[in-house]
This record gives sequence, structure tokens and C-alpha cells, in this order.
Amino acid sequence: MRVLIVGAGPSAAFAALACKDLGITPIVMTKDVPIEFPGAFYIHRVPFGRHFNIRSRRITCYLHGYNRAHYAQRIYGADVPTSCPDVVKETFGYNPYELLPTLWEGIAPQAGITLTPGQVRHLSASFDAVICSIPLTPPPTTPIKMYVHGPIAATKAFNYTTGEHWLAGMLNVPEEGIQPQSILYNASPHGAWARISWLWDHIWVESVEPIKFLPSCHIIYKLPRQTTPQEVSEDPRILLIGRWGTWKINYLCHQAYWDTYMKLKPGIT
Ligand SMILES: Cc1cc2nc3c(=O)[nH]c(=O)nc-3n(C[C@H](O)[C@H](O)[C@H](O)COP(=O)(O)OP(=O)(O)OC[C@H]3O[C@@H](n4cnc5c(N)ncnc54)[C@H](O)[C@@H]3O)c2cc1C
Repeated sequence: MRVLIVGAGPSAAFAALACKDLGITPIVMTKDVPIEFPGAFYIHRVPFGRHFNIRSRRITCYLHGYNRAHYAQRIYGADVPTSCPDVVKETFGYNPYELLPTLWEGIAPQAGITLTPGQVRHLSASFDAVICSIPLTPPPTTPIKMYVHGPIAATKAFNYTTGEHWLAGMLNVPEEGIQPQSILYNASPHGAWARISWLWDHIWVESVEPIKFLPSCHIIYKLPRQTTPQEVSEDPRILLIGRWGTWKINYLCHQAYWDTYMKLKPGIT
């Protein structure tokens, strides 16, 4: 079976794993292979029954004031499903820097190829299936811009002694600073902050406005709005995956494994 995967981000990595599990070696065409995963990004789970030599680690999520609905409303302009907890939550997650290379083992993405939606549709004629992690129609509305500051050296010394004090106050960061393996969500309608995280080796601050006193702000994330129609493919050979490909705000990358598996497994349409 000839399968093309478009993109080589986390969703595509899970799609590649599903292909391997079905005995398919996909061709992967991508603009680039992301090497940095900014913000509070962790892999929530791996496909059932899969055992990797990588262990998940504990993550503590704190929500300060208000509730999940306020947070969602604040960030996305609507009460949509998010990973933001209602209260303090202990969870487990995988380090994407450790896990994703394992998912790609045996597959070499062809980088440096930027495809237009028209080219993806055209290519689909040469494949039995295309698993596509980029959107096929232009976003119907301007996406939300999320400013991601960091990575900031992960140390407890990052305790907001100067301008950052304000940030600490907004987020209720304890005086001793943020703890390793934790995420703080701010649901307050005041101020610009969304969340701060210390996961793996890095601290990131994500906000809907740039924060002047933070050292770097080199990434602007574009987030789709849930209020737009979720994108579905009209071409039965093209499966859209991932948050970007489907325009679905709560799409977590491991979902791409199941979507791809169900699409390609013989006997299942
Ligand atoms: C701050 C933040 C935190 C998040 N936290 C989590 C989390 O904890 N867990 C989780 O599962 N999800 C999380 N998400 C969602 C996250 O965005 C996705 O799960 C994941 O990064 C999306 O991976 P992707 O492969 O779908 O897209 P991307 O990572 O955007 O990858 C897209 C790929 O397509 C390629 N590409 C782009 N355009 C073209 C083109 N025209 N032609 C060819 N190739 C192209 C790119 O080079 C890239 O390889 C978070 C999102 C944000 C913004």
C-alpha cells in the first residue's frame, strides 16, 4: 500500500507509527522536521499495548482562580475542551524529545518540500492514501496568536525578582518559583497571561500578548479557533490529522495514531 504522510510534526510521527504497525512504509514529505516543541507540550499517552523504553513522568497542573471554562473562554473565545484542569491535577506524560525519535525509527522524512493544498490533492492520485497534517483550505478566520517566551533556563532561581514579579503575581507562582514538572494555568480575566510551565529541561511562558521583560519571544504560535468549522477532507484518499490539519483545538497528537490506523487497516473504512 502506498501511503504519503504530509508533515513531520508530532501528529505525523504517530501516523508513521500506525503505518509501521500495519506493515506499511510511508513516504513522508515535509517542509521541515520540528526539533523544538515550545510551551507546555507533552505526549499525553501512547497507543494501547505499546511499550517503549521511555517512561512517562509525573506532571502537576495547577489552575489558579476561576475555572477551566474561564480559561478556555479567555484563550479561545469560547468554552471548548482543553487540557486545562478544573483543579490541581496530577497526571503523567512523555517527554516529546525522547519519544518522538523512537516513533520515527526506520522512516526518513524528506524535508525541504513545501506543498500547497492543490499539490497534496494532485499527489493523492498517486497514492492509496494521504495522511495530511496541514490544512487543505485556508483558515476561515484569523487564528489566535500565542506568544511563547523561552526556553528560559530551568532553575528555581527563576523566581521573578524584578519585572517578573508581576508575572508571578498574575500566576500566583509560589515565592520559591515554579517547580519542575509542573504547569500553571491562569484563568483570570485580568492581565495577559495564559500559562507557565517547567517541563523536562525548560521553562516556557505562553501568553496572548508579548511580555516585554522576558528575554526571548522567538515563536509565535498560531492556534485555530474551535468556533470555526472543523476541517474535513472531501477526498476519501486524504485523511486530515493533527490540530493544524483538522482545525480542531483539542486534537492531541497521539490521536493521529488511531485516526491513521482506522483509516488504513484493511476492512475498515
Ligand atoms: C502551546 C501549545 C501546547 C500544546 N500542548 C500539547 C500537548 O501537551 N500535547 C499534545 O498532544 N498537543 C499539544 N498541543 C497541540 C500541538 O500543537 C500538537 O499536538 C502538535 O504540535 C501538532 O503537531 P502536528 O504534527 O499536527 O503539527 P506541527 O507540529 O505544526 O507539524 C506540522 C508539520 O507540517 C510541516 N508543514 C507545514 N506546512 C507544510 C507545507 N505547506 N508543506 C509540507 N509540510 C508542511 C511542518 O514542517 C511540520 O513538520 C499544544 C499546542 C500548543 C500551541
